[in-house]
Amino acid sequence: MATNHKTRMLIIGSGPAGLSAAIYGARAGLEPIVVQGLQPGGQLTITTDVENYPGFREVIQGPWLMQEMQAQAEHVGTRMMWDTITNVDLSGKTFVATGDGGDTYEGDTLVIATGAQAKWLGVPGEQELSGKGVSACATCDGFFYRGKKVVVIGGGNTAVEEALYLTNHSDDVTLIHRRDSLRSEKILQDRLEANPKISVLWNKKVDSFLAGENGELRALALTDTVTGDASEIETDGAFVAIGHAPATELFKGKLAMDETGYLLVTPGTPKTDVPGVFAAGDVCDHIYRQAITAAGMGCQAALDAERYLAERDFAGVTETVQY
Ligand SMILES: Cc1cc2nc3c(=O)[nH]c(=O)nc-3n(C[C@H](O)[C@H](O)[C@H](O)COP(=O)(O)OP(=O)(O)OC[C@H]3O[C@@H](n4cnc5c(N)ncnc54)[C@H](O)[C@@H]3O)c2cc1C
Repeated sequence: MATNHKTRMLIIGSGPAGLSAAIYGARAGLEPIVVQGLQPGGQLTITTDVENYPGFREVIQGPWLMQEMQAQAEHVGTRMMWDTITNVDLSGKTFVATGDGGDTYEGDTLVIATGAQAKWLGVPGEQELSGKGVSACATCDGFFYRGKKVVVIGGGNTAVEEALYLTNHSDDVTLIHRRDSLRSEKILQDRLEANPKISVLWNKKVDSFLAGENGELRALALTDTVTGDASEIETDGAFVAIGHAPATELFKGKLAMDETGYLLVTPGTPKTDVPGVFAAGDVCDHIYRQAITAAGMGCQAALDAERYLAERDFAGVTETVQY
């Protein structure tokens, strides 16, 4: 039978943003509920080495970090729910989310931390070699390729930024693009052209990622989009940089978002355009996209949720609360 779960702070998403919001919310006495979704622990659960999350001298494993974060959230009083939200109603005094089994979750405040997913090419070898030479995040993994040969796939701002960033670690960066011109901003193209560490392979489509005998990435199989010629490029690391898709389908028509689907918040805050509804992490951040920034935004969301409730409760008249 479907159950209605009530809380002072409902959190959708169990990545670094959602779990950090939960830790702060629980410690503020808001007894948060976290609905975990299809990827409990979020994106870090699909990577291996994490070397840039503060507090750990040695390299740690992404799935382990997220287990610890969840354990910490539960330890301070968070209720974790194995469910995926399929509908939300943000029009009432409380916010109601419906899970795919029919359970409803009702929050006096709502923190949306549904993240974003990197877009992949969907070609053979890509997922098998993810974490073994194939990555979707230069900021996260570029450091592991110090002094090595790397390629970046894509032709937009993300790809050019990733290529430029990788020159901090590698003198041999190749940008592979399936067309003969880039879609990125002119200023980025100028910086790319001026950088002697970057070369561009035009009109090349990636057909597959090839493993070496050690099971790590060895090369990419390419096809020329003009001549149809096949070729290979040997590399130590490949960065797929064809964009991200924020998980915001649920909120279309209910919350303000930009043209690419990222939730819009008041700059510098987690406040959406609906009072009491907050957004945190990759779902509203197409720039930084890191675990630490997502966690920081989760903290902000919980602090603002607590303040929102305190002001509302002090006013004593929920219908006329000012925000
Ligand atoms: C391969 C890889 C390696 C990375 N390496 C690093 C690294 O080394 N260091 C670093 O700082 N960052 C790294 N990142 C980036 C980092 O993982 C993200 O920036 C971070 O996870 C974003 O956190 P988030 O909480 O905003 O969202 P996410 O981690 O994306 O979590 C989103 C959560 O929302 C849930 N959800 C979505 N829709 C629903 C729904 N309808 N109902 C309920 N729940 C829902 C999902 O199940 C998930 O739990 C990496 C990313 C990838 C993909």
